Amino acid sequence: MRYFKLFSGLAAGLLLTGQTLAQGPTPAQLAKSEELAQWALGQHLGYEIVESLTTEVGPRLAGTEAEERARNWAVAKLKKLGFKNVRVEYFDLPVWERGLERAEILEPYPQPLVIIGLGGSTSTGHQGVEGDVVGYPSLAALRAAEADELKGKIAYIGEVMTRTQDGSGYGVAGQKRREAAYVAKEKGAVAVLIRSVGTTSNRFAHTGQMRRVTSQPIPDGVPAAALAAPDADQLERILDSGETVRIHFLLTPESRPAGRSGNVIAEIPGKKKPEEIVLLGAHLDSWDMATGAVDDGAGVGIVVAAAKHLMDETKRPDRTVRVVLFGAEEVGLVGGKAYVEAHKDELAQHVIASESDFGAGRIWRFETRAGEGRIEAAQALGHGVKKLGAAPGGNTASGGPDLLFMRQAGVPVVTLKQNGWDYFDLHHTPNDTLDKIDPDDLAHNVAAWLSFVYLAANTGEYYR
Ligand SMILES: [Zn+2]
Repeated sequence: MRYFKLFSGLAAGLLLTGQTLAQGPTPAQLAKSEELAQWALGQHLGYEIVESLTTEVGPRLAGTEAEERARNWAVAKLKKLGFKNVRVEYFDLPVWERGLERAEILEPYPQPLVIIGLGGSTSTGHQGVEGDVVGYPSLAALRAAEADELKGKIAYIGEVMTRTQDGSGYGVAGQKRREAAYVAKEKGAVAVLIRSVGTTSNRFAHTGQMRRVTSQPIPDGVPAAALAAPDADQLERILDSGETVRIHFLLTPESRPAGRSGNVIAEIPGKKKPEEIVLLGAHLDSWDMATGAVDDGAGVGIVVAAAKHLMDETKRPDRTVRVVLFGAEEVGLVGGKAYVEAHKDELAQHVIASESDFGAGRIWRFETRAGEGRIEAAQALGHGVKKLGAAPGGNTASGGPDLLFMRQAGVPVVTLKQNGWDYFDLHHTPNDTLDKIDPDDLAHNVAAWLSFVYLAANTGEYYR
């Protein structure tokens, strides 16, 4: 009996090992993924790429001439690095551009406020608007307001965003940025101000898109802007004292119905299974008032450098590695949607995908979203990432914002989860510049992505 148990256990073990050898990474490949990661920690190509993008292009708002320059930069860079099939897939979108932005308290204590307009906001006209401020602690409280409570007035929403390592505070706080202008309009307000969706106490405000740009027309909201956190504190102090606060608010953005954006694509064609695709993504566009170093120049540097190292330091991969630098992410994942529409017949061949779009902090967790019974296989792709210090994560990875539609279409994704503790100090602000990136942290990311893409592109495993 005892002998039999031992024997059957051994047989099962052999069978499992045999299956693993047939499909997943071999011990030699696992060792290689570690070795590549260690080597890449000493490389600085990722940083050089972000430096080049942020210096030579600068801010690159979706649909503008600046984003076009970013695409030209990317095409030239990817060709020079030796990628194949470098191309742009264009798509159209409405374009919103910032104008004058100013707000000041007129009464009871006259003084200027630091603001920034929200993407997609309507204009106040060149005279601006003037009104008494009604403060609400949350979007829910504004929703619950009586209709005439805000007639002719300016709404203000407080609500502080929570700082977390995984960025989970953003989901809740982002709601007020997306919906405030439309809810305030329903209640009869002439404008709305929100506390910035961000975690810094510095005196600059965080922008961001209101409702996502789609092919459907978006209703007009009232003009909307975010206040810097110290200015939000200041406004709240006066409101709390019971004084009536009167504000003048000027915002003159302009919208054009038709502009052009595009996704830049580059490949390392696979040797054995070129039709099978491992997709690495980042987004090329940024907000307009900074050079978008952490959002998402860092992601561009990370995935391009990882793919370039794979090309140079290993033999040609079995599967095709496709780098996609998405356009128009910030205004509503427009590039991610366009990609899925353009490649719908090919999505079944996308073996696995991931996007880097959470700054340049080190990776602390490796998350998957794989089919039932495929989770362990997908976790094996994080072997080298975990050797760099990351923990295994759950099977609810988002894969990154631009992969939303791909994920919904059934493409398995992983997330190399970065430390986002400081990310929302910089996110969508004038302070998102190159000096905020630690070159060693960026190299750590490139190392992790290299080890991941090496395994994903060279094993015969599937994750659906
Ligand atoms: Zn981003």
